[in-house]
Amino acid sequence: MLDIETLAMKWEKSHPQDILREITGMGLKWTLAMSFSREDTVILHELNQICSPVDAFWLDTNLLFPETYAFKDEITARYQVNLRHIQPTLSLENQAKRYGKDLWQEDPHRCCYLRKVEPLFAALEGYDGWITGIRREQSPSRARAQIIEWDKQHELYKLNPLAFWLSDELENYAETHNIPVNPLHTQGYPSFGCYPCTRPVKPGESIRAGRWEGWDKSECGIHQ
Ligand code: SF4
Repeated sequence: MLDIETLAMKWEKSHPQDILREITGMGLKWTLAMSFSREDTVILHELNQICSPVDAFWLDTNLLFPETYAFKDEITARYQVNLRHIQPTLSLENQAKRYGKDLWQEDPHRCCYLRKVEPLFAALEGYDGWITGIRREQSPSRARAQIIEWDKQHELYKLNPLAFWLSDELENYAETHNIPVNPLHTQGYPSFGCYPCTRPVKPGESIRAGRWEGWDKSECGIHQ
């Protein structure tokens, strides 16, 4: 068992690459969650200098932006990554038959459960921990994220190596290291997921203000 409290304190001001180097040397089986945000690509870039291929997965809801699908191809061509393609059990067609057309408009909580939360359990099976791009600055619900935590929902470790980084720091790092960036980020989407539930943010709005507008919902449910 890892002493996560001690590690979390120790890594509080460490560079993400040092954190990743240390954790991947501890003999545990880790996988990286890829949503193709700037955060995830920076982590992949760093991990790829430590291990090759990187073990990663993406949750394909079948409702991602065309830019994200194209960017996925760019990333897999550039980095050494074993990117597992995780999809929901229900196709969109069968979801519509069972729950009605455009479930995200009627019940986004159920839609996220079917298309993200449930598939994640399968993606994490057999692993000791997962690595995410969560940052404290992203939302009040993420403000208390630790560098390393115990994920009670999935019963494994969760590493958030960018937890304390701010947007400017992240953007500068990606630019300086020539790390590819999903074009959605330059089209007004500091955060994105499925296209039916994401709009660009307006100046002054918070990072995740464009997600699930009109609903009392700020997370899909995979991060608790
Ligand atoms: S973000 Fe929207 S479309 Fe995507 S799974 Fe959740 S509710 Fe469904």
